[in-house]
Amino acid sequence: MNMNRLECAACGLEHDPTRLQNLCTECEKPLSAIYDLDKAAESLTKESLTTRGSDLWRYREVLPIKDERNIVSLGEGWTPLLKTERLAARLPIEIDLYIKDESNNPTQSFKARGMTAAVSMAKELGARKLAVPSAGNAAGALAAYAARAGMEAHIYMPVDTPRANIVECEQSGAFVTLIDGLITDCGAEIANRKDAEGWFDVSTLKEPYRLEGKKTMGYELAEQFEWDLPDVILYPTGGGTGLIGMWKAFGEMEELGWIDSRRPRMVSVQSTGCSPIVDAFQAGERFAAEFKNAATVASGLRVPKAVGDFMIIDALHESEGTAVAVTDEALTKAVKEIGSAEGLFAAPEGAACLPALRKLIEDDFVKKGDRVVIYNTGAGVKYLECF
Ligand SMILES: *Cc1c(COP(=O)(O)O)cnc(C)c1O
Ligand SMILES: [Zn+2]
Repeated sequence: MNMNRLECAACGLEHDPTRLQNLCTECEKPLSAIYDLDKAAESLTKESLTTRGSDLWRYREVLPIKDERNIVSLGEGWTPLLKTERLAARLPIEIDLYIKDESNNPTQSFKARGMTAAVSMAKELGARKLAVPSAGNAAGALAAYAARAGMEAHIYMPVDTPRANIVECEQSGAFVTLIDGLITDCGAEIANRKDAEGWFDVSTLKEPYRLEGKKTMGYELAEQFEWDLPDVILYPTGGGTGLIGMWKAFGEMEELGWIDSRRPRMVSVQSTGCSPIVDAFQAGERFAAEFKNAATVASGLRVPKAVGDFMIIDALHESEGTAVAVTDEALTKAVKEIGSAEGLFAAPEGAACLPALRKLIEDDFVKKGDRVVIYNTGAGVKYLECF
């Protein structure tokens, strides 16, 4: 509600926030929403939050929408932060291990957080037809929020996307096209057609507001931990929107005077079948090369080229974090380990955090007594093909 400008995250060029925007018109990098946080702080206080609704619009002063009537919501956000006992006991050292369970969102993944913000803003700025390339869950979320807003959703997915994602889109009335290729090929197809079709492209980070929706994970985590952030956050990374978003949220919260300058060490978790960010981070690069022959059952991690690669890698460095890849075999096995220890049927992407955590313990990156959060970003039930 207090957004006062949009600026390019790479070159700083300002863009008009009263119009639909995609990438920076000068350098084709993502745009970032900047708020008047002094104004936000007039009504958004830690105390005010205690009386607000259990969805992410509780943070509306730091979300982009101007008129609340444009909010398109299905009750997203404010998901459980589960302390694990039995899973933590299986690790070789004593740590406080939490799972942030994002499978509780509408459409069963945290993509709902991004889409509620993007679709609400698209509505506010007059879009009618939305398009997205998706590895799976973003498609389901767009289909749902577009339906709720009375807009068209045009969705391009790889032909081998989990069936549940394809069916949920069809049953939400979306227009679905399956492509024999990867999410990057789907994105290229939309880029070719969107002008002729009058579509607004809501690819992650290619429009500015999915990031804003996903940043609420940072606010929420801080609030649920009573404003004392954890030591380490493991985040299964595809496009990296949630990690970049949380990092942005931490900066905003410090400006609001809610937290100090200490930050969790941020960890990007990927599959060895598609690990462009891990490879770039380990090579000391700021931009990631396109990952060739990307293949992983954790479909949300099958993103061979992320437009916000430098934003992910900057956050990893600034937080003294790292990046870890685990095999598909290990991440699939971890689904059952989490399920049988904690009663949570995790998405393979979220489960990947467990073998990654074991590696980090082995490397002495995670130490005894650390408070660690792993993100379960989606629901295992959407990936029945994997089991
Ligand atoms: C999209 C997705 C991811 C990756 O999220 P990013 O923020 O794009 O990195 C991880 N897990 C699941 C289940 C997803 O759907
Ligand atoms: Zn730019």
